[in-house]
Amino acid sequence: MDIQTIGIVGAGQMGNGIAHVMALAGYDVKMTDISAEALEKAVQIIEGNLSRQAGRGKISEAEMAAAMKRIDTTTTLTDLGSSDLIIEAATERETVKQAIFEDLLPHLKPETILTSNTSSISITRLASRTDRPEKFMGFHFMNPVPVMQLVELIRGIATDEETFAACKTVVDRLGKTAASAEDFPAFIVNRILMPMINEAVYTLYEGVGNVQSIDSSLKLGANHPMGPLELADFIGLDTCLAIMNVLHDGLADTKYRPCPLLTKYVEAGWLGRKTQRGFYDYRGEMPVPTR
Ligand code: NAD
Repeated sequence: MDIQTIGIVGAGQMGNGIAHVMALAGYDVKMTDISAEALEKAVQIIEGNLSRQAGRGKISEAEMAAAMKRIDTTTTLTDLGSSDLIIEAATERETVKQAIFEDLLPHLKPETILTSNTSSISITRLASRTDRPEKFMGFHFMNPVPVMQLVELIRGIATDEETFAACKTVVDRLGKTAASAEDFPAFIVNRILMPMINEAVYTLYEGVGNVQSIDSSLKLGANHPMGPLELADFIGLDTCLAIMNVLHDGLADTKYRPCPLLTKYVEAGWLGRKTQRGFYDYRGEMPVPTR
């Protein structure tokens, strides 16, 4: 299965990163979003990130120009119909993703592979609503996409070997590393990472440590590049809570219950860096712990 054109649905922080790495690897990219503004912003971000890479000598000016030329944007979802591979990276809501696949299906070639960048939603369930569960799988990039080396490739119950191999070839061409995961709640990375972050929030909630001491402990005591609370702010506390809920509901084990303090931050709208406040306050020059 030869993949040359890639359709990306959703031009948010993940969609623009995916478009960036795909175009740089020589794929033709068509990116769509319901918001024309999001598409415009995504192209600006990609250009800015590529020029930073060019400035550091990681890529040449010619490679940057060629990558930008390979990216096309549209607000019409069905323009992605001729793609060989679709990567859906829209908002993490199952009804949104289902509606996207439903609208796309009548316009796709029979051989088109459908994938989702979902962090937590069941690939098998998403696939079951399409006409091609054997050609459907999870294509899970890490944030920020141009920097992070890993891609989790998640097989739904029906995903066939040819589809997996085709996606693995794409990951190889990006120069990234694929980890194969079965389709269970939150897959591998978030299954392990989120309970650790949730436990860090419990440690804060129970007063075992404050924000500073918890983050320093894991950075200096376990050699983590970022503290768990700093990392939670980077990911988004709403996303962390959503993933904990998926683990809690999907595995029905109380060890995954979200910490009430995490819920409280989300209810306050203190979602981390994206809202300028979470476990740290980012409104000043330096982040200041909020506890
Ligand atoms: P985001 O909020 O930055 O972007 C989502 C984009 O989807 C927005 O631009 C929005 O306008 C668009 N969108 C919403 N409905 C749409 C529709 N019907 N058609 C087309 N576009 C639509 O979100 P994000 O952080 O880029 O996350 C996107 C996906 O990637 C989610 O499934 C998320 O779970 C997953 N993911 C996120 C991270 C992360 O760290 N943020 C990491 C891995 C995977």
